Amino acid sequence: MPTTQLGLMNPDELAAEHEKQTEAYRALQARGLALDLTRGKPSPEQLDLASDLLTLPGENFRDGSGTDCRNYGGLQGLPELRAIFGELLSIPVANLVAGNNASLEIMHDLVVWALLHGTVDSVRPWSQEPVVRFLCPSPGYDRHFAITESVGIEMIPVRMNPDGPDVAEVERLLSADPQIKGMWCVPNYANPTGAVYSDEVVRALATMSAAAPDFRLFWDNAYAVHPLAEAFPPAYDVLGMADEAGHPNRPYVFASTSKVTFAGAGVSFLGASTANLDWYLSHFGKKSIGPDKLNQLRHLRFFGDADGVRAHMAKHREILAPKFALVQQILDDRLGASKVASWTEPAGGYFVSLDVLEGTAARTIALAKDAGIALTAAGSAFPYKQDPEDKNIRLAPSFPSTDELAAAMDGVATCVLLAATEKLRG
Ligand code: PLP
Repeated sequence: MPTTQLGLMNPDELAAEHEKQTEAYRALQARGLALDLTRGKPSPEQLDLASDLLTLPGENFRDGSGTDCRNYGGLQGLPELRAIFGELLSIPVANLVAGNNASLEIMHDLVVWALLHGTVDSVRPWSQEPVVRFLCPSPGYDRHFAITESVGIEMIPVRMNPDGPDVAEVERLLSADPQIKGMWCVPNYANPTGAVYSDEVVRALATMSAAAPDFRLFWDNAYAVHPLAEAFPPAYDVLGMADEAGHPNRPYVFASTSKVTFAGAGVSFLGASTANLDWYLSHFGKKSIGPDKLNQLRHLRFFGDADGVRAHMAKHREILAPKFALVQQILDDRLGASKVASWTEPAGGYFVSLDVLEGTAARTIALAKDAGIALTAAGSAFPYKQDPEDKNIRLAPSFPSTDELAAAMDGVATCVLLAATEKLRG
């Protein structure tokens, strides 16, 4: 029986397979598709779930403590909304800030202010250090890496396992190098692998010793309440763990409702020690007289309580889970037998990470582009956009309709196979 595994084919079989995939690719191009699998955006249908926000807060513009949300002030954000998200994130209300629409903006501020002023534990501003380095679990989130790259912070890739970053490698690097000042982390349904950090990994990162006294975990819990199945991910008390180990100021925890309500008009959150929050608010108070509290009030009224958030996320799940299942089914059907690719099966979040035959990711993405399917640029999930093995492709199934997604994924599979046969023929 002839093999279906591309890597085991003899030259004749490979030539025939290449011919077949070239034909399939021509047919794909002839369809004149214009599809996009690049960004992890909520679909319009998901955004519609929160349309009631557009008519809130109505005539009553005061929160429970009587604050007139139309006015200036309230730097830390509305306490009642912080209580809801504090419960979901396992963070005491006093240690949580509710901000404006983008957690990425807070991350950027924290990096820039550390460079300009130093953190509460720094002996000098980071910009006066000979070099500042960040650990970057890879593949990871391109926009994290873009922040550190844009300000000249050196990025060190760290291997990503299914249960989080390789902590032995992190410990080795961190204990030896006082210039490592930060680490990007997405503890739940990591972008793009979907990994969920285990209890052991979270504890190790929160408690291990670091050569730099001002080392910071940039703990981006963007998908804290975004499972694709019924069970919610664990909300580890990373602030408490770090505090007990004598590193109270190590974690900066981020979250937002960008993928809960409106991606462009949600509420962001920052959780940290009291010292860190005092530091943050003293700098934030220079750039703003207060966040958009009316939007916070809208969100408060919309959710009511933490169960309101959970119930809302169940509606997202109903839309997203079938799309993720479709991606798995097409990858299995089209690529399973060829053994030239592997992919993650996330239990939540917004992405699937596809690893193709080494040395063919850029070619696959270029083929897809010429067939009208936009994929995230090659190497995007790595520091400096350098995928050392040229094999990773990030897939974002949320935005397209089911029909578009099916067409796009089928096309991607054809491109993966064509690029693989090209490569194997040499
Ligand atoms: N963090 C991660 C890991 C993300 O994947 C995203 C968006 O894709 C964001 C942050 C953006 O968050 P925000 O909209 O709150 O800036």
